[in-house]
Amino acid sequence: MAEGLTALTGKEELRARLADLIGPEGVRKALDNPHSRRPPRPCGLTVHPGFGCPNGCLYCYVGDILGTGPTRPRPLELTGLELAYALASNPYFVPGLMGTFLAMGAVCDPFHPDLVGKTLDIMRAVASFLGNPTQFSTKMSIGPEMAREIPRNLSVSPLITIITLERAGELEPKAPGPEERLKTISVLRKEGFKPMLFLRPLIPGLVEDELDDLISEAKHHGAVGVVIGALRVSRPILRRLSKLGLDGPIRARLKREPPKRGLVAVPSRDLKEMAMGIAREKGLLAFKAACCANAYVAGVPCADLCWARGFCSNCPNNCLKKLPPVEEEAIREALLRAFGLRAMGVHDEGLKLVVEVKARQGIAGLLDEARKALEVATRRLMAFRVVKP
Ligand code: SF4
Ligand code: SF4
Repeated sequence: MAEGLTALTGKEELRARLADLIGPEGVRKALDNPHSRRPPRPCGLTVHPGFGCPNGCLYCYVGDILGTGPTRPRPLELTGLELAYALASNPYFVPGLMGTFLAMGAVCDPFHPDLVGKTLDIMRAVASFLGNPTQFSTKMSIGPEMAREIPRNLSVSPLITIITLERAGELEPKAPGPEERLKTISVLRKEGFKPMLFLRPLIPGLVEDELDDLISEAKHHGAVGVVIGALRVSRPILRRLSKLGLDGPIRARLKREPPKRGLVAVPSRDLKEMAMGIAREKGLLAFKAACCANAYVAGVPCADLCWARGFCSNCPNNCLKKLPPVEEEAIREALLRAFGLRAMGVHDEGLKLVVEVKARQGIAGLLDEARKALEVATRRLMAFRVVKP
């Protein structure tokens, strides 16, 4: 049976094992925590070892969305095992190597000294009980000793963020400098990881002149690839960048002002292509999406189905050759056991599965959870056709 479907079918047993270890109070805490119900983002399911960051990068939205500004991070109140239970209880989550990708670094730096203990505790619990490909992004310094504490019985994809060599002091005033981050790349490579340069956000007007040096340095220090991503700006971010005179080229690309609250992506297709071209010229892998780097490191098809969604950059992972077989009986069983849904028929339309389910009205939320989980477990696009009972 396809590994992802087996894991989905066995989620209840996994939860029971973890519940035995954490006890009723641990279960209560885990179920109260947003990790037990948060939907996945395109990069995977975000895992937050903490909240907040003191580094004060001018382009960062973390302090704005948390409403704290730059601040000392607050560690997650769950233990690693409780977090594993929360994930195993999340309806969108599929355990295992062929399951949901995990991503750490969305609202904190997971290797900030106040969070590194929690991050490693989470990684150990994921390694022992879940096995999902795990990615982290960081600007912190990781030395050999710390690198050796990252579990090796887990697929871990490190992304080291460097977006400028020249103006890091102004743009990222409190983060370790680019030299230290380049050292982190060297250390991780020497310890057997496949670190990637995380070239996100691309800042128009700044990055064009730096791309060549930045990518050369990353390669020289042992990066195996580059993950590229556009800048997203809010009004406060634009205000902060204007103090460095960096807002002009950004505004010139925006089709509209950022909304009062929230972020708008800065169109950067040309910059992405330029960066990917330079990375390839220098013999590095180039990824348009972070999940592809996670997939490449784990050697499994991308859980976000990037090959079907237009984000494939044709890396050697060759996802299409690794798709699991479509087994109708296994899909029926997974849907029944994990979601209580009865599949009447499964139609294989190549890269897309259409599943007929017998269901009452008013279960759109349940169908959305089941669709997202099954897309990961089968590595196919999915649609439901609802048949009234
Ligand atoms: S290090 Fe990351 S999380 Fe911290 S301020 Fe900079 S961009 Fe934000
Ligand atoms: S083959 Fe394409 S979709 Fe698969 S991991 Fe590589 S870039 Fe991503």
